[in-house]
Amino acid sequence: MEAVQNEKGQISIHTENIFPIIKKFLYSDHEIFLRELVSNAVDASQKLKKLAGFGEFNGELGDLKVTVSVDKEAKTITVSDRGIGMTAEEIKKYINQIAFSGASEFLEKYKDKVDDKGAIIGHFGLGFYSAFMVASQVEIITKSFREGAEAARWICDGSTEFEITAAERAERGTDVILHIAEDSEEFLETFRIQQILDKYGKFLPVEIEFDGKVINNTTPIWTKSPADLKDEDYVAFYKELYPFSEDPLFWIHLNVDYPFNLTGVLYFPKLKNDFQVKREKIQLYSRQVFITDEVKDIVPDFLMLLHGVIDSPDIPLNVSRSFLQADSNVKKINGYITRKVADKLSEMFRNDRANFEQKFDDIGLFIKYGIISDEKFYEKAKDFCLVKTTEGKFYTFNEYREAVQAAQTDKSDTVIWLYASDVEKQHGYIESARRRGYEVLVLDNVIDSHFINGIEYKLEKTSIKRVDADTLDKLIDKGLSNDSVLSEDDRNKLKGLFEETLNNKAATVSVEGMPTDELPVTITLPEFFRRMKDMSALGGGNQMMFGQLPDSYNLAVNANHPLADRILKTTDADAQKALVKQAVDLAKLAQGMLSGADLTAFIRRTAETL
Ligand code: ADP
Repeated sequence: MEAVQNEKGQISIHTENIFPIIKKFLYSDHEIFLRELVSNAVDASQKLKKLAGFGEFNGELGDLKVTVSVDKEAKTITVSDRGIGMTAEEIKKYINQIAFSGASEFLEKYKDKVDDKGAIIGHFGLGFYSAFMVASQVEIITKSFREGAEAARWICDGSTEFEITAAERAERGTDVILHIAEDSEEFLETFRIQQILDKYGKFLPVEIEFDGKVINNTTPIWTKSPADLKDEDYVAFYKELYPFSEDPLFWIHLNVDYPFNLTGVLYFPKLKNDFQVKREKIQLYSRQVFITDEVKDIVPDFLMLLHGVIDSPDIPLNVSRSFLQADSNVKKINGYITRKVADKLSEMFRNDRANFEQKFDDIGLFIKYGIISDEKFYEKAKDFCLVKTTEGKFYTFNEYREAVQAAQTDKSDTVIWLYASDVEKQHGYIESARRRGYEVLVLDNVIDSHFINGIEYKLEKTSIKRVDADTLDKLIDKGLSNDSVLSEDDRNKLKGLFEETLNNKAATVSVEGMPTDELPVTITLPEFFRRMKDMSALGGGNQMMFGQLPDSYNLAVNANHPLADRILKTTDADAQKALVKQAVDLAKLAQGMLSGADLTAFIRRTAETL
């Protein structure tokens, strides 16, 4: 046996192994080959402009338009630019060595001079080679901008062999010619190329011409300074992005360059109560190249309903989701967006409250969602989030607290937020509360049950109850109610009669001295169990446990109401039972608990008495 020789060395990667991998797995989306090639052409043009700026290129820049053309007969797609071009040496260096990114080398070399790195797209890594996903052969004909440079032609069929020869090219720049493979002939259709260019290239910084037309807007508004823009510009851009949408409510111009680079415009669309509105309306760009409309993780979840554009070269591309989540820039970007949105809303609230209130039906959804899901957002939003009463009046959390404290007869520290989830159905309860000087909030949106749970836990010394909850009589009535005219005995008698009629172990009966003009009997629901039942009906919570609970509720008999007296004074047992039954059914009806055969019987009985 031979002795092992100590050795250090380099693992060599052979392109034979790597090519099929690139072809199959690098990009699942074959169409992005065009994004890569057009980006390279744009880069080459931008680099030339930069060099002209540094005085390293003194020739005529001329028209730097990039052209994409399709030749159906020859089965080729050509991307041509008038950028810096390449010498034969540069082809060997940049093209033959896969993953040697010329873009990063360029930036490295000029790092002191290039203040605005954003102008160069690059850095998609193996971009150029994505051409082999759709082409059986790729040809480059290029001439460097350098004086006296000779044109060169490179050709490769996707194997590891290439050929470089001298070529004819009158002007500086590059043509990349793809000989489309048989299985990719869909890309020879004009509409297909148009579609891909529209998707990825709509806002590229250099003009792109296809089929005789320039397809892009080279200076979309997010590249401009907010000071140079008017409201009309923002609205016009919104329409450019979403042609058939209503005008947005307002927008936020994002612009930061430290500690990460990010620009963009986020729009608040008109939402109304439509919670099902399409997400994925925010588009992510990297140096004006469209990347994706899946911005999950980059944009906080509660802002996914916003529309608009984010452009950041600092978001890692082509990485897995879990990697993206962990990326520190992505986390910072997420935090920055949250802060900007909170600041904008706060400013709107402070500057023009009437206008803010007017928009609240639309923006309330974002704000509530943000409050539930993002602690940092809550810290700011708690001062401008509004709640609306059944009378249409808006309060901030603090203002509502003060209003409740003034109305609440129980002067303890804890205040009760009373809300209605259905103004029509809970009308009687709302009336009752209002008569006691209490303003009832309307929280009837899909998000509100979550909002209530989230906020109750955050607000100090506050408990939130639905207007028909069992608190109303217990808490608010204190001191307001007259003392009952009934004796202890009569109370117990009434209690027994009602219990017998209800015949429901989960329900309780209480006899209370309420004002005479209150309803004779009222059913209230325990807040906690009701919420749990609501949640399990929505599919959340513990279905097994709460879905099967019997209806537990409290039936409060108003001891001061003439009906109580009448029941007690009725001597005929059947007539007395009938009265109690009628009173119970009335209370159930008010709570929406009467249905089916019971409801029909009730209507018949009532009709008979008429
Ligand atoms: P990246 O764009 O990330 O650098 P690519 O594989 O797409 O990676 O391209 C490799 C390099 O080849 C580029 O950085 C650039 O130097 C050179 N190159 C590609 N296309 C062109 C072109 N149209 N004009 C000039 N140089 C080009």
